Amino acid sequence: MNAPPNAARDDMILARERLLLAPYAMHSADTAGRKHPEPPHPYRGPFQRDRDRIVHSAAYRRLSSKMQVFTGEMGDYHRTRLTHTHEVASVARTLGRALKLNEDLVEALALAHDLGHPPFGHAGEDALDECLADEGGFSHNRHALRLVEELERRYPEFPGLNLSLEVLEGQATRVDKSAATARRPLLEAQVVEAADSVAYDTHDADDALELGLLSLPELLAVPLWCEAAKRVGVRYAALSEKELKRAVLHELIDWQAGDLVARVGARLAEGDLASADDARRAAWLVEASPALVELKRELEVFLRDRVYRHPNVLRVRRDAQAMLHEMFAGYALRPDLLPASFAGRVEKVGLRRSVGDYLAGMTDRYAQQEYRRLFTP
Ligand code: MG
Repeated sequence: MNAPPNAARDDMILARERLLLAPYAMHSADTAGRKHPEPPHPYRGPFQRDRDRIVHSAAYRRLSSKMQVFTGEMGDYHRTRLTHTHEVASVARTLGRALKLNEDLVEALALAHDLGHPPFGHAGEDALDECLADEGGFSHNRHALRLVEELERRYPEFPGLNLSLEVLEGQATRVDKSAATARRPLLEAQVVEAADSVAYDTHDADDALELGLLSLPELLAVPLWCEAAKRVGVRYAALSEKELKRAVLHELIDWQAGDLVARVGARLAEGDLASADDARRAAWLVEASPALVELKRELEVFLRDRVYRHPNVLRVRRDAQAMLHEMFAGYALRPDLLPASFAGRVEKVGLRRSVGDYLAGMTDRYAQQEYRRLFTP
């Protein structure tokens, strides 16, 4: 492809953003750049390039075989970590465009937001956190940063993906939200947080219904679902149970996204924010209306009690944690079993951390396969 000359390219990308983005959006022209400076790309803006680097990373591909809440053995309807990520990116882009934010940055942040999940989701995270208690613990949000800053090896010039500092900063605020009080995350990062919540509140309930862990009447007794069903009832007279479920799911996403666009849009309109830096100094702006926040909280309590603590889910959790503990101890005793890339990092980060990094990168399936191959008599 014949690329336009540099000056024309910059003009094209920056002029497009000036036309389409609000002043409080993160404009590509104002990026703080990358840790390892690189020349601009002939026809892609910096955040578009970040998005592409994330999509082409191994950690991103592995999300397809990592569980969200339910494992592959339970069925094939429910979300994986990858499809959840796409749903978050989809909702986040909708919000970002409606609020005139930088969609490329929104998408890069959304696609990266769950990269650091180990096998078996939060069960795996808790197990690794216990294994690494003396080494500072394990958190999937922090691990995502380790992946994109060190562990991914795609380019000869530098370790990691060398993402824009705005993407790294957005991910860093997920690690420690309390650190984000003096300087809030960019609005693009706040939108991804909100979209994550819209996605998992809606889809975990859908998946649990489909797996038979819940019944529709039980969910319709939860106020958020009850209200959504009422709204659906105004439009449709008689729906089968399946049709009603699907209509309520659409309504839940549309309602939450519409509420965010209206509420945040109004705040931004009266906020008089002249730049992305102004937005960083303002209050946390991207949040649902108080009534909806309360309804979502009630649903989350219900999901915690009825889904995340369902005996079938707890059994998977126990098995996965026992397996990861055994594997961690096994590799720590036999570092010669580690692949060269992780064995080579032992001197730099310590044996236990390197074992943790290796295990964290595994998909659910690969962890089970390696467990059977190496640690099952
Ligand atoms: Mg998520």
